[in-house]
Amino acid sequence: MNEVVRPNRIEVHDRDALATARAVLDACADAKAMGEAVTAAVARNAQWRGADCINLLAPEAPTSPGVRALLAAEIGTRAAEGHIGPVNRWFAGTRHIDEVEALCVELLKQHFRCAYADHRMCASMVGNAVVYTALTQPGDVVMTAAQPIGGHSSNRLDGPAGAMGRKIVDIPFDPEELVVDIDLFRRSAPLVAPKLVALGLSMTLFPQPVAEMKKVISEWGGRLFFDAAHQLGLVGGRQFQDPLAEGADIMTGSAGKTFSGPQSGIIVWDDPDITEPVTTAVFPVWAATHQVNRVAALALATAEAIAFGDALQAQIVKNAQALAKALQERGIPMLGAHKGFTTTHQAIADVRKYGRGLKAAQTLERANLIVNKNLLPSDRKEDWDFPGGLRIGTIEVTRFGMKEREMEAIAEMIARVIVRGEKPEDVRNDAVALRHSFPTLYYCFEHGLPPA
Ligand SMILES: *Cc1c(COP(=O)(O)O)cnc(C)c1O
Repeated sequence: MNEVVRPNRIEVHDRDALATARAVLDACADAKAMGEAVTAAVARNAQWRGADCINLLAPEAPTSPGVRALLAAEIGTRAAEGHIGPVNRWFAGTRHIDEVEALCVELLKQHFRCAYADHRMCASMVGNAVVYTALTQPGDVVMTAAQPIGGHSSNRLDGPAGAMGRKIVDIPFDPEELVVDIDLFRRSAPLVAPKLVALGLSMTLFPQPVAEMKKVISEWGGRLFFDAAHQLGLVGGRQFQDPLAEGADIMTGSAGKTFSGPQSGIIVWDDPDITEPVTTAVFPVWAATHQVNRVAALALATAEAIAFGDALQAQIVKNAQALAKALQERGIPMLGAHKGFTTTHQAIADVRKYGRGLKAAQTLERANLIVNKNLLPSDRKEDWDFPGGLRIGTIEVTRFGMKEREMEAIAEMIARVIVRGEKPEDVRNDAVALRHSFPTLYYCFEHGLPPA
């Protein structure tokens, strides 16, 4: 106990934020007031981020009223570890939980046009750990994308792949085209003969040469793993390449990014030979009590995607293209401009001449325009806390019914802040007004499609 109050303790979290929280708790008369302090902070976020901001974070999506309600459902208080079915479960009483989970799995198979799906990952990061567990051994070579080109820590040395002792070799990329350099891959991959190639990109503008890569690694029986954390909704809604159809052995994805469901992870695949290793890497290795409320919400979000996914994802891409074009026209250099800017939900701005990504994102935040700092392919290791770019996503604005015209208005607000140096506080009223004029969440059973 005494450890906790030692003055010189080491913190990785921001010390001031923790000190502020301690002061808040110290000022509370009793534990009930402490609980109220938590609820009040949640309410402040709901007002600011939920009602008054233009949220342009690419890995973020609002969920429908039905999906949100299921996240608070009674079923989320039940324990149900194991595989679906009465004999597979440790606990009795899971009859209806089995129903819900089986519906979720079958909905996922239908939507992603695949033979197998798993629904039990509380995060896509965990799905990636499942794939490494199922398809590789410690010491195996895995080729993955480096962070400045869009790679994610889950597939790198500092994430589960590295922590589990996989040896990481970079997939070669063309930094201008923002796609795998397939000629270089043809030459470099055979030198290390990776057991697995993990193609996962948090910065993702264009399709990747999945079929060509699979052909190369098939020579030694290597497998291709497409980490579609960001693109999952686009794949399901047929607005992006279909990695499984093009030859990927397995695909993971985040349910809370373009897929626009509850934050969590899914895995889909077709090959019966990997069904046993993958399913048993989920349980008992990486999931136990896997939040059945979240599974129910995921199932409903998948039904929504079956009904509205094609229309939603098509508009998300059109909006990203319109936003990128409008930003470029206002003096902000955009990646991929020479090939139509983007084919996804993302637009990537090069803001090196506007104070770099951290400062630009923090200034835009004061105008209630929420984006994230992002590495550019040219960023060096020492730039990582202060990257040169911004990543801007169109999932949420699209779900609220905004179209190309509003993207033009948003680009204008962004340019007023970072190109023309207007005070962000002067732009904020316009951002709030735009957000308030789009109060309804669409592409869901409650509200259908937005007006034409
Ligand atoms: C976001 C992301 C992940 C992690 O997904 P979570 O659902 O946040 O755990 C994994 N890989 C890539 C490429 C990502 O962008």
